[in-house]
Amino acid sequence: MQITIALTKGRIFKETLPLLAAAGIEPVENISESRKLLFDTNRDDVRLLILRGSDVPTYVQFGAADIGVAGKDTLLEHGAEGIYEPLDLGIARCQLMTAGIIGVSPKEGRIRVATKYVNIARQFYAEQGRQVDIIKLYGAMELAPIMALADEIVDIVDTGNTLKANGLEARDSICEVSSRLIVNKAAMKTKHQAIQQIVDDVRKALG
Ligand code: AMP
Repeated sequence: MQITIALTKGRIFKETLPLLAAAGIEPVENISESRKLLFDTNRDDVRLLILRGSDVPTYVQFGAADIGVAGKDTLLEHGAEGIYEPLDLGIARCQLMTAGIIGVSPKEGRIRVATKYVNIARQFYAEQGRQVDIIKLYGAMELAPIMALADEIVDIVDTGNTLKANGLEARDSICEVSSRLIVNKAAMKTKHQAIQQIVDDVRKALG
């Protein structure tokens, strides 16, 4: 039985490899230096896929990958349908926050919010009872308030340096983010033993 694990080459990658190694799974070539997207491992029954972060939950939801590693931000934005989230890997920690121009107090009434996290933003502002128009962006969210495209942004904040460098400050914290191990719900049943073993080994490696 073949187990497919979906990863991204982003900041999570280097910290994920030792966790997989603890489960006895090691790529047979140097993934960082390759342009390939599908890799064999030392285990005949395990292969690795390299995807864009936001595509990892999609592959796992539909069972094209059995297991994945994805940020909580990506998972919240995607939705949990068809996906179990058995482990918090505690890596790539950051926060999802709202932010606006430094020293400018939040506008009353309806505001424009630029973000790539449209679902998370819509839910957060609705819970706050605030009226918003959401503007979907694919990157460089920090520019939006400065260029008067939006009043606020919703984005990932780690040190806050990126906000500061662009004249912005964090306002509200939406949630804490870290990377999670996710599993396709159907595969958890049909490939239970193999997947549970990997989940248990990774959990042990987390200490
Ligand atoms: P910082 O300047 O340290 O606040 O980092 C902010 C930028 O780094 C954000 O705009 C994100 O694009 C990126 N970033 C920081 N931490 C993470 C993370 N854990 N996952 C994804 N992106 C992150």
